[in-house]
Amino acid sequence: MERSKIKGIIQKGKGLAFLFHKDRLVLMVDGASLRLPLVGELPVSKQGRWFGIHQRLDCFVSPLPKAFPLPETTRLLSLRQLFGQIEDPLYILAGRASQILNWDLGNQYCGCCATPMEEKAGEIAKICPSCRAISYPRLSPAVIMTVERRDEILLGRSPHFPKEMYSTLAGFVEPGETLEQAVQREVKEEVDVEVEDIRYFGSQPWPFPHSLMVGFTTKYAGGNITPDPTEIEDARWFPRDAMPKLPSRISIARKLIDNFLVRTPLN
Ligand SMILES: [Zn+2]
Repeated sequence: MERSKIKGIIQKGKGLAFLFHKDRLVLMVDGASLRLPLVGELPVSKQGRWFGIHQRLDCFVSPLPKAFPLPETTRLLSLRQLFGQIEDPLYILAGRASQILNWDLGNQYCGCCATPMEEKAGEIAKICPSCRAISYPRLSPAVIMTVERRDEILLGRSPHFPKEMYSTLAGFVEPGETLEQAVQREVKEEVDVEVEDIRYFGSQPWPFPHSLMVGFTTKYAGGNITPDPTEIEDARWFPRDAMPKLPSRISIARKLIDNFLVRTPLN
């Protein structure tokens, strides 16, 4: 992580530039495909920082310098739009870049004493020169889970979902809670249903803006679906042969649902 010290010192042609204009990433049009610009092809602001290596290339993240006119050979894509447009390892790096940049821009001053923060040597972190408080990039763990009952799955929709789309339930982990407790609490709070047999499925960084989604499968253990109207506008049991409109394959929600669909019916 020593390269984190070289913030601001970025040489032309030495690495990949993850440049963000607000929440959108700058990409170069290259024939029929898109690629990341090299450092030097586009200007990197003084706030640029090193954050990783991809195929021996240093990776830098930076806000696009203000008022810079983008050439016609560039495109601006949100992370959601970017999915499937570049290789998966680069997509994951773009999410990492976005999270680090958001943390960087939002932590210019110490949260304890308001002194301007300084880079902490040797890691991606900042330290207050006055009170020594340290800031690391923020990560907010969230749990996401299937609730399964024989050949049915419980899916819900929140009011901000695209029309007719249903997905797995999910929610943030609270301080002092285990992941399993968070699963039980979220399902109970959102639809008033009890679950058991909570099993880890997998996880996914979710840079919108700084979550880590931890996926579980669970089995129904009791209760009638009663959605909490502040979070869920509808929730139902869907049989495996009558799935509603589902979320994008980008999401662990979809992987959880697909995993349910390919398994043999539960007893
Ligand atoms: Zn301080």
